[in-house]
Amino acid sequence: MFEILARCSQSLARRGVLRLAHGTVQTPAFVPLATRGAVKTLEARDLAALGYEMVLGNTFHLMLAPGPELVAALGGLHEMMRWPASIITDSGGFQVFSLGHGGVADEIKGRGRGADGAGAVLRIEERGVRFRSYIDGAKRFIGPETSMEVQAALGSDIALAFDECTPFHVTRDYTARSMERTHRWLARCLDWHGRHGPPGQVVYGIVQGGVERDLRQVSAEAVAASACDGIAIGGSLGADKAQMHEVVGWCTSALHRLAPERPRHLLGIGEIDDLVIGVQAGIDTFDCAMPTRLARHGVALVPDPGARWRLDLTASARRTETAPILDGCPCPTCAAGHSRGYLHHLFRAREMTALRLVTLHNLAFIASLMADLRAAIETGGLPEAAAALLAGAAPGSWSAR
Ligand SMILES: [Zn+2]
Repeated sequence: MFEILARCSQSLARRGVLRLAHGTVQTPAFVPLATRGAVKTLEARDLAALGYEMVLGNTFHLMLAPGPELVAALGGLHEMMRWPASIITDSGGFQVFSLGHGGVADEIKGRGRGADGAGAVLRIEERGVRFRSYIDGAKRFIGPETSMEVQAALGSDIALAFDECTPFHVTRDYTARSMERTHRWLARCLDWHGRHGPPGQVVYGIVQGGVERDLRQVSAEAVAASACDGIAIGGSLGADKAQMHEVVGWCTSALHRLAPERPRHLLGIGEIDDLVIGVQAGIDTFDCAMPTRLARHGVALVPDPGARWRLDLTASARRTETAPILDGCPCPTCAAGHSRGYLHHLFRAREMTALRLVTLHNLAFIASLMADLRAAIETGGLPEAAAALLAGAAPGSWSAR
């Protein structure tokens, strides 16, 4: 299901292709979030036009509404969304444990408390997790088998094994015990999937272990030893970016030895510098709320590392600017000639069109960045391309060559 087409000689980066039930995904790739069955403000055809080949659906939210039975009755997630290409579904573990652990689950990912809806974990046990639905307050349960069953009903191309997303502020002992349970849950997920999983759906296991180097190693060994088709890296990755990049590096160097041919997904990470550094660390796919969430808050992505690649369109300085978000940007918004001043006005006037126009730009920016990284790996120029992009080069020049 995963073919490596080229490797970078100076890093762990690889250029590959995922062959999934609903088509191929050229990697390294970014995966936009279609949390509740839609990438907010966009249609499926917009995503295809931007060059995206996979989106991420959220098991926890879709399980609560509209529910797996209704999604299945509407033809499965692909048919319901009218999205013919690939879909990865998360396991629901991150959201259900966020209810219990609060925002500390991963400060570095910028998902604050309540971002996924208020609710409550009632009990975490070996069998699974009891929680209260944020929609109607009803008592619900999710465990490894439930998660796989819901993901089977959704009909995703890649299902993720159910895991506990351990927060940063817990003891090493808790992280170790939680990791061991996640490994037992992986075995149960694979067992259920082997007997009932839909044909063509593949399963990724998840490496946990927090910020403990030896635990990350143990977890990488356990997941690599399982029969999972691909491997995701999850859990707390540290208190800051430097630590996050270090923890990801531990995982990918272990996986480079233990499971060199299996695809790797980094969960919930996708700032511009994280994508460039993550690709060099050997990550094949990423998902993150960043580009779409920033867009809805009036923040556009621009090649400006000093401003963390952000341009605030709601700032008063934008009011009279006639230039587009980014000169030469091929996205529908910039190509149509929409000025920063116009977008500023739309945000101030709370016009919904603003959210869509900036979402299109931000996802085009990321698509272009990933295309550059793929092209640079193919031509042996990744170190130079990565350095230039991190220094503020506009994406698009490597893939255009
Ligand atoms: Zn643009």
